[in-house]
Amino acid sequence: MRGELAIAARSLTKRYPQVTAVEGLDLTVRRGEIYGFLGLNGAGKTTTIRMLLGLIRPSAGSVEVLGERVRPGQSAFLGRVGCLIESATAYPNLTVRENLEIQRRLTHAPQGAVDEAIEFLRLGEYRERRAGHLSLGNKQRLALARALLHHPDLVVLDEPANGLDPAGIVEIRELLRGLAREKGTTVFMSSHILTEVAQLADRLGIVHRGRLLEELDRDALRSKRRALLEIPTPAPDDAVAALSRAGFGPSERDAAGLRLTAEPEDVPAVAQVLLAAGVPFTGISPLAEDLEDYFLRLTGGEV
Ligand code: ATP
Repeated sequence: MRGELAIAARSLTKRYPQVTAVEGLDLTVRRGEIYGFLGLNGAGKTTTIRMLLGLIRPSAGSVEVLGERVRPGQSAFLGRVGCLIESATAYPNLTVRENLEIQRRLTHAPQGAVDEAIEFLRLGEYRERRAGHLSLGNKQRLALARALLHHPDLVVLDEPANGLDPAGIVEIRELLRGLAREKGTTVFMSSHILTEVAQLADRLGIVHRGRLLEELDRDALRSKRRALLEIPTPAPDDAVAALSRAGFGPSERDAAGLRLTAEPEDVPAVAQVLLAAGVPFTGISPLAEDLEDYFLRLTGGEV
């Protein structure tokens, strides 16, 4: 079974004198899947990624990447891994092409790999531009080009959408999806934006204060979202009273009236309760809870 896992982390822990950045984290990423590693700022994502790549030593626990035990300083497996992490900056005085050429030599990739990566990331126009003079979005593309140039089996991306505009984010999403689906590349990406990873990831791990709170696939995420009914009414207090007497709830007031936690199938019953109680209302519409709300609810909304 080991061969089917791209990443297996067991009880991964990193303690700093003032803070435990990661605590007892178990993580399993299967080969060929896109795994979204989600957490608010400071949740421990970057620290985890550094341990996965052997860049820092865990205080406890172990990591295997592509079937090899990761030990800081022993980086043979890195030849099969592409990464984009905060500290992976390009040489600012070298051009896009020169930066990629260095990466090509470091990773022993074939001659054509630089041109291929430039084309893949649509950097052709900036080929001879110094990396230091690129926009933030194009810097991020260059970082991605470096990560992907040698056709790694696994790519580890720390907040790959950083600095990209909405069109760039969509483009990168398509690119990563294509990598996983067509080339079988495993993608592990971190993000603090749930909607961004939810659209792409086959599975999500939610990390909060250094611990893995929940791991779920996209279907599970969909079914865990809280269903709401929006009920515009001029008499929200009467509506809440009638609904709670009938066993419905909880509900929240909003500008239009109230939002009731209930499934779309409950609409007829809710309508009946309100009509029977003589409570005026102008509609009952099912709302899917915003994914971001789900995430914030799960993490208690604490940053
Ligand atoms: P962000 O999205 O803001 O990068 P993150 O989820 O990647 O957040 P980490 O950078 O892993 O979070 O940080 C987790 C916690 O560990 C934070 O409280 C951070 O201040 C702390 N931390 C990280 N690196 C160190 C370090 N070298 N020394 C001390 N504390 C650290």
